[in-house]
Amino acid sequence: MDKINVIKVGGAVVENEASLKELINQFATMPGYKVLVHGGGRSATRIAAQLGIESRMVGGRRITDEDMLQVVTMVYGGLVNKRIVAALQAKGVNAIGLTGADMDIIRSHKREPKMVTMDDGTQEMVDFGFVGDVDHANGQRLASLVKAKDGIEAAVPVVAPLTHDGMGNILNTNADTMAATVAKALTEEFDVTLTYCFEKPGVMADAEDDDSVIPSINTESYARLKADGIVSGGMIPKLDNAFDSISSGVKRVVITHFMDIQASMGTVIEK
Ligand code: ADP
Repeated sequence: MDKINVIKVGGAVVENEASLKELINQFATMPGYKVLVHGGGRSATRIAAQLGIESRMVGGRRITDEDMLQVVTMVYGGLVNKRIVAALQAKGVNAIGLTGADMDIIRSHKREPKMVTMDDGTQEMVDFGFVGDVDHANGQRLASLVKAKDGIEAAVPVVAPLTHDGMGNILNTNADTMAATVAKALTEEFDVTLTYCFEKPGVMADAEDDDSVIPSINTESYARLKADGIVSGGMIPKLDNAFDSISSGVKRVVITHFMDIQASMGTVIEK
């Protein structure tokens, strides 16, 4: 089976000129089949503020009302996605920008209001608004873009964290979940490695110490790390998606620094 790398890059990396440049260099020179999935939350917050729209977050997750849906559609699907595509094209990589709506790659349904545990431990009913929970991904269509066929040149998909419901509505979907969805969907046709990269060297035992990278995590050690508060915030949905991927046919899942995506160092997720 052919190998493919699905790289998810965090918001902080793509929203900083210097780190984006480094990431593009690393990704462009990566050999073989590849897909890039990106976030962009910080840009959405900034552009929303410029438009006088307030960003509301619950437990680190964005509330997407109608105005915010317009902002994330413009920012994720436009500004951030197209900047990455143009930068990759400048390096000779045949990048194509996609949302889940393009070619019906990823369908979702609007999340119903649900009970959420707040930072102070209390439970509250939260309506996340126009947020999509994934139902289905079309791995074959994605694979058809990635592999050259009948003289048609292969492409490198750059996927924005937006999905659609098949009834004309775009929905905001967590970028880590998008990456897991893409990786799992490609397992029928490829031997898939999923790499979550960000501005830190991996999952760390001590947030202040770059030398404290935890080399591997299994479900038992994950439960302990969570209970001890060593992993928190945005790292929790990332690890949940990482475990979901490794138990659903993805061959290798790594969490690492954006400069180390080729070396595949960092924290390895064990089945
Ligand atoms: P991204 O936008 O890069 O996907 P998130 O902000 O969603 O990233 O999640 C990564 C963040 O998780 C890190 O920037 C860090 O603040 C936080 N985090 C929590 N626990 C840990 C840990 N043990 N090791 C590394 N990062 C952690």
